[in-house]
Amino acid sequence: MPAPIRHLEFGAFELTILNDGHFDLPTGYFTNIPQDVADALADTITIGANLWFIRSGDRRILVDTGSADALKQMFPDTGLAWGDIKKENPTDIVLTHMHADHLGGLADARAFPGCRIHVARTEWEFWTQDGLADAVPEDIRAMVQMIQQVASGFADRVVLHDGESEIAPDVVLLDLPGHTPGHSGLRLQSGEETLLIIGDAIVSEDLQFAQPEVSYALDSNKDQAVTTRRALLQDCVEKNCTIAATHFAFPGVGKVVAEGAEFRFVPM
Ligand SMILES: [Zn+2]
Repeated sequence: MPAPIRHLEFGAFELTILNDGHFDLPTGYFTNIPQDVADALADTITIGANLWFIRSGDRRILVDTGSADALKQMFPDTGLAWGDIKKENPTDIVLTHMHADHLGGLADARAFPGCRIHVARTEWEFWTQDGLADAVPEDIRAMVQMIQQVASGFADRVVLHDGESEIAPDVVLLDLPGHTPGHSGLRLQSGEETLLIIGDAIVSEDLQFAQPEVSYALDSNKDQAVTTRRALLQDCVEKNCTIAATHFAFPGVGKVVAEGAEFRFVPM
């Protein structure tokens, strides 16, 4: 059965949101949860896996490439959108970061010929540094090796960005560090309206709006991730941005409202 797809118009942008499946994670992936909230949680938390395809003028921009086959052994319900996205012919791919669930579609080096692949320089330089696999704890060594192998397959097509950087007209790469060293978002601007694709800056809409201090196991710098998350939420409230996130329940698009010191996600 083909994975669900949602189409959305945002100004001159045509957006397609693809459902790449879901992850059933042990609740322990999330930490720093207030005790009363933790007591009410089940043993597993399900998070989504959304991908975006943006058409604007003559540009066709794929934001992240999903898991493809990279994580199927551990998470069988992932990589579901791969059949759909490999048929697309993007001019550009933007990687919010280089974790396997965002990079997996590039494991096949023949996929997306001629396409530019945009990554923050900090992210690229972190994951491709010599000796990284030997320097990390053994439980993530295989993951690092996989990322480095995939990255070597598209190194000749990579376009590196520093700070806020325009990918296409009204499409800007943003620094949202903490989940990974060079984790990025994407800002789409249409007049006064802003749509932010936030990648993994917020992973769980159920836990991290009310408590932005809740950490996710894969956040490489937990303090920085919290700072980024809180600033992002505050900014979205002030500017009434629409946000789209990788791991919210499909299609993962909505608004942020403030309630006292807490935030709430209002799905579209
Ligand atoms: Zn992710």
